[in-house]
Amino acid sequence: SLPSTGEFMGHPKGLYVCFLTEMWERFAFYGMKALLFLYLTKHHLFSDTDGYLLLGTYAGLAYALPLLGGLLADKYLGMRKAVVFGGVLLVLGQLGMAYTGHAAAGVQGAGQQDAFAVQVMYFSLALIGVGVGFLKPNISTIVGRLYAPNDPRRDSGFTIFYMGINVGAFLSSLIVAWIGEKIGWGYGFALAGVMMALGLVQFMWGRKHLLGHAEPADPELLRAPVFGGLSREWVIYLGGLLLTVVVWQVLQTRIDFGPLSALFGGHEVTLTEVVAVLLGAALYIWFIRLLFSGISHAEKGRMIMLMTLITVSALFWGLYEQTYGPWVAMADRVMDRTTFGIEWTAGQTTAIGALFVIALSPVFAWIWPRLDKVGLNPSYPAKFAWGLVFCGLAFGVLAFAAGNAGDSATVSLWWMILAYFVLVLGEMVLSPVGLAAVTSLSIPRAVGMMMGAWFLFSAFGEIIAGRMGTWAQIAPEASRAEALAVYGGVFSKMMWIGLGAGVLLFLATPLLKRLVR
Ligand code: GLN
Repeated sequence: SLPSTGEFMGHPKGLYVCFLTEMWERFAFYGMKALLFLYLTKHHLFSDTDGYLLLGTYAGLAYALPLLGGLLADKYLGMRKAVVFGGVLLVLGQLGMAYTGHAAAGVQGAGQQDAFAVQVMYFSLALIGVGVGFLKPNISTIVGRLYAPNDPRRDSGFTIFYMGINVGAFLSSLIVAWIGEKIGWGYGFALAGVMMALGLVQFMWGRKHLLGHAEPADPELLRAPVFGGLSREWVIYLGGLLLTVVVWQVLQTRIDFGPLSALFGGHEVTLTEVVAVLLGAALYIWFIRLLFSGISHAEKGRMIMLMTLITVSALFWGLYEQTYGPWVAMADRVMDRTTFGIEWTAGQTTAIGALFVIALSPVFAWIWPRLDKVGLNPSYPAKFAWGLVFCGLAFGVLAFAAGNAGDSATVSLWWMILAYFVLVLGEMVLSPVGLAAVTSLSIPRAVGMMMGAWFLFSAFGEIIAGRMGTWAQIAPEASRAEALAVYGGVFSKMMWIGLGAGVLLFLATPLLKRLVR
């Protein structure tokens, strides 16, 4: 059995070390995300389109880089060092965001920007993206390693961990967003950095509870000098910084395809979108080769089902992540945000989603085994289809509200609360279920890579979200009624995308189920 430093409430103490670390990391990540679109469009006067695209690009990179961070930790660094390095980059990035320079002068989309401050911001976003890449996959892996392979507490351990993610998101949406919007953008970002720093100190302090599970696979290899007398460990750290410089540039590079641009609706394409398409193609090639590497017929069926689910998840996140773009914009521009006598800020509305996740997680953890017992537990593809349908319905709620706002051209916050509730029903049947599907459907030797693929498709989702968000762009001189008409039209389109994809997946479900029999 595993060595132990004791338990707390039936789980290894290390779980709580990881819980708090990831809680503060997500506090920083989501607090910043709740503010980003507002900050870009109101402080630096980005156009709506540029704001949505940067939001998607940055978040996309933050979900793609864990593939690399996970690989480096597996092979060389070990989880603990990777988490500490990622944490340091995150703190630096959040504090860098706190440098806001002077506000752009002029009109949105054509303002006179503080070019230096904008570059500091891009660099800070790159630091955060690379930091998440080193921290997020590895803190989750440590949780898995705290339990022996067949420990029945593993699932509930992960449920507790997922709650930590959302407690962090909830608190920061309320606190960081409020400070950012009411007191000053920089103060909000700085608070995110300070809390991440405390989370990091807590992690280093609690290291003995990780029971040596997060140490490098081969410490000798890590110490060996490889380059100009530098140890392999330091080469990796310097490589991480170099990567930050690359990401800093990638974040702000657009590609003009000249006459071919017509293919993309006449738009420039971000470099990140190009990289995403290439990465996606490479992943499918890797996957198809794996299918023909002599695995059994049954394994093949399960892997095809898993890859289908992962692919579908990108569309789900593409819709879901509108919450940090057009939903925030709608809350800011055409919503009466007063409930219970409190006027919430636009960024604070993102807390609603996290609150529903916290409330509904125990409900779903309770429901699944019971449905299972009476033979009514839906298959994985059916659950994913429900996820898309709920997602579509959530957009239907907001589209309806936008279409029925009346003469005041003002939507009640209650509509958004209802929309978030329906959306989170979709999240609950898709996101934690997806993590479980990866671990149970994949052939054992590919689990790590398939987990990386899961987050990579979250990254694709973020990038898709940024591009779809641009449909909701609004000219700065538009009236409230015109803005509402745009949001209503875009959200009903998104509703049909969610419902349509959900129905298609329901139709394909019997076929997919036959694959795994
Ligand atoms: N909300 C979860 C997190 O922040 C999952 C997000 C995702 O997979 N896209 O970890």
